[in-house]
Amino acid sequence: MLSTDILIVGAGLAGLAAASSLKHRGYDTLVIDKSRKIGGRLASKRIGRAQFDYGAQFMTAREPLFLSLMDECESRGLLKQWFSSRQGDKQIHPRWCGISAMTDIAEYLASSLQLRPGYQMAAIKRASNSWSAHICSGEIIKAQAVVLTQPVPQILDLLKDSGITLPVNIARRLTGIKYEKCLAVLATLNDRSKIGPPGGVKFTNGPISWLADNYLKGISQVPAVTIHGAPHFSEDHWHSDRQESGGLLVEAAKSLIGAGISEFHVHGWRYAKPVRVDQDRYLVISLMPPLILAGDAFGGPRVEGAAMSGWRAAAALEHMLRP
Ligand SMILES: Cc1cc2nc3c(=O)[nH]c(=O)nc-3n(C[C@H](O)[C@H](O)[C@H](O)COP(=O)(O)OP(=O)(O)OC[C@H]3O[C@@H](n4cnc5c(N)ncnc54)[C@H](O)[C@@H]3O)c2cc1C
Repeated sequence: MLSTDILIVGAGLAGLAAASSLKHRGYDTLVIDKSRKIGGRLASKRIGRAQFDYGAQFMTAREPLFLSLMDECESRGLLKQWFSSRQGDKQIHPRWCGISAMTDIAEYLASSLQLRPGYQMAAIKRASNSWSAHICSGEIIKAQAVVLTQPVPQILDLLKDSGITLPVNIARRLTGIKYEKCLAVLATLNDRSKIGPPGGVKFTNGPISWLADNYLKGISQVPAVTIHGAPHFSEDHWHSDRQESGGLLVEAAKSLIGAGISEFHVHGWRYAKPVRVDQDRYLVISLMPPLILAGDAFGGPRVEGAAMSGWRAAAALEHMLRP
């Protein structure tokens, strides 16, 4: 049986930020993720010579702690400022992206951590002053404390499957957290696109919410675009044939792309971004043994919010373990 001081479920930015902070505070930590890749919704994929960011497209930083992580990664040559402002955009915050892909920052945080990709948590059971985490493969991990960072509906399913009943006020808070869906198209082009610099276009109307040229962004060796379906389009087409829905998005983007599409793949994000977030940056479910929830549903619906939530949860956990 594996054992650790603190088990972190989810290798997205919230889980990785929590784990690196807790490791820094002297705790033995273990991060598990059901996926074989790390980064969660910071997702990148290579198809042939084309490279795509198909989850988060860039990061903004408003909080000093997250800003210092951006600066640190930039000075290490892992991140760059993709662009600072678009025409008509009043905000001038830099938009950072990974030099090779958005997962660069996740890989950097994960490099000093103990990680088990491909480990899906099935249930969590209380065992006197510790937790036993049951992994789908049948393995059990014992931990003094657990941090859960999956999207909230997945956390609620896990707690239900574990027989953990939440107080009514907490259950109400958590069931009130809703997410929008996103259908993402990863399209390889047979020529350079017509999209102008910096290579990212945001839409407020129509079926598309975002169009990015991964070649202009500097991550793909060959012309390749990411198209994000708008929330209403993604919701309406969620149960339709994925290639057909992707085809509609490709058709809608065709004149903007201005080059032929050689192939495209579609990915569905069921929990893309929380539309309603919790009032707090983390949520304590149990004080002893500690069980804490973190993630973008608590810190704000962005990469920065996820990291801030992970860091705050880590500080709270230390306080609980060493009062
Ligand atoms: C299409 C899209 C575009 C976006 N664009 C932007 C953007 O441009 N800028 C921005 O700042 N943000 C953007 N976001 C939001 C941003 O990606 C998220 O806010 C952030 O990455 C969330 O991080 P997290 O750690 O909270 O959750 P996640 O990254 O979702 O991490 C949770 C992890 O838990 C794992 N997991 C789930 N269940 C289990 C289980 N049972 N056992 C083990 N592991 C499990 C998952 O595999 C996942 O890796 C976008 C998101 C999407 C989907």
